[in-house]
Amino acid sequence: MDTDDSLKKYREKRDFRKTSEPQGEKEKSSVEPMFVIQKHDASRLHYDFRLEVDGVLKSWAVPKGVSTDPRERRLAVPTEDHPLEYGDFEGVIPEGEYGAGTVLVWDTGPYRNLRGEKTGHGASMKKSLEDGKVEVWLEGKKVRGGYALIRTGDDRWLLIKKKDEAADAGRNPTRTEAKSVLSGRTLEEIASEESGKE
Ligand code: MN
Repeated sequence: MDTDDSLKKYREKRDFRKTSEPQGEKEKSSVEPMFVIQKHDASRLHYDFRLEVDGVLKSWAVPKGVSTDPRERRLAVPTEDHPLEYGDFEGVIPEGEYGAGTVLVWDTGPYRNLRGEKTGHGASMKKSLEDGKVEVWLEGKKVRGGYALIRTGDDRWLLIKKKDEAADAGRNPTRTEAKSVLSGRTLEEIASEESGKE
């Protein structure tokens, strides 16, 4: 599937005359694939977990966000592929539009495909997504280390911290580190600054 096909759903859901979200027209290529976690104050507050795979951002909505505790299993519901440029999008999606509400870049950085590194039975990210078994190493500012994303049903995955040196049951970054890693702003600051622009 090429990038254009993959972003069809994304574009159909949005009116780009009204929202400042990117249309995904630029072909961007990065040396290392990136992940991004966006905090999204929509009708229901959630975190969007996105992994760059083959030119798009594969996406899941994670109501409770990412944990650093391997005992926590966080529900992750797949959503439509997003363009790579979405990775640094922060702002306010206007009322009445799809996903209306404020978006903040909660964490971002490069990631590695851990299954791809296994000798003998390595799997590409594409294969991992098909298998419903993704294992990645995140190098973010707030979260790092191994994470597994496991498909457990139709439209239902679980995001789980792997047991490694970066696991820490004592941290709760969604609560203690709420600000944007790109701009240092809170959701409230983004909302008031963006509405001031109108
Ligand atoms: Mn969202």
